[in-house]
Amino acid sequence: MKLKNLYLTTFLISLLVISCAPDDDLEFSEQGREVPAFDSERAVDYIRQQVELGPRVPGTETHRDAMDLYRDHFRSTAGNQAVFVQEFEQVVYGDTLQLYNLIAAFGLEHSDRIVLAAHWDTRPRGEEDPENPELPIPGADDGASGVGVLMEFANIFAEHDLPIGVDIILFDGEDYGEEGDLDNYFLGSRYWSQNPPVAGYAPRFGILLDMVGGEGALFPKEGHSMRFAPSLVNEIWSIADEFGYSDLFIDERGGMIADDHIIVQQYTGIPMINIIHHRVREDGSVAFPPYWHTQDDNMDIIDSTVIQRVGDVVLELIYNRIEP
Ligand SMILES: [Zn+2]
Repeated sequence: MKLKNLYLTTFLISLLVISCAPDDDLEFSEQGREVPAFDSERAVDYIRQQVELGPRVPGTETHRDAMDLYRDHFRSTAGNQAVFVQEFEQVVYGDTLQLYNLIAAFGLEHSDRIVLAAHWDTRPRGEEDPENPELPIPGADDGASGVGVLMEFANIFAEHDLPIGVDIILFDGEDYGEEGDLDNYFLGSRYWSQNPPVAGYAPRFGILLDMVGGEGALFPKEGHSMRFAPSLVNEIWSIADEFGYSDLFIDERGGMIADDHIIVQQYTGIPMINIIHHRVREDGSVAFPPYWHTQDDNMDIIDSTVIQRVGDVVLELIYNRIEP
């Protein structure tokens, strides 16, 4: 290759990189603030409480019982006035479902805000389970783990003043769709994004926690998250590296995973990232953990060390890295 061509090529590549760079002006640095401790045992207990209720499948009594559990917990931590349950009805596969998103606002004195989210419903079927493909899954990791971490955050936010406002959102109906039928996944995040409870709501960013408590967890940098908010992803992964957790938050490009964060970003423009247990196979396809969408997604695979590390990293980000 001639040198002139090399320069031209380099120039064209740099143009391409610049034009592909997302609109991400999020900035982070150490703020020297004290960070409260995360109690993974309490988070695991919240996961157990959900699993013991049974599968949280939309349209079932257990689903309503679980919403009562969340409502009570977030009212007792955020306060009655700071919790809103967004109820809506949707017909899916011929069934009329009552669905519920829960929103709990912490640090109401701050107009500057961020979002933390997880889906709370569990899948009505476990098609990856060769023996029981029709049975609803327990959803200890796929559903309960993200919510358990957020419930423990609520305890902390209630007791330790936040440097920024935090809205916790539990989305319903994330995992309802039949395989490949993406229109019937993400029911709650789609409804919330299209019917925002607060007009003009514009938090700085969002973090979605999905399957954050399973044994053998690996969190590569999920592909859409790297499109929406690369500096947020890189900050979280660099905190994890500082804490010695780089074997969990691995510095590798992950797969492009369809999840609530895409819906939120598409409809609202809020840059939302996803911390999700998965890996990329050699052929480039995405693999979820072996217990995923099976009866094995139960308390036996919950690993309190994984949960502790997720809690440590996200709390460090919220309390000590966000620039005023
Ligand atoms: Zn799932």
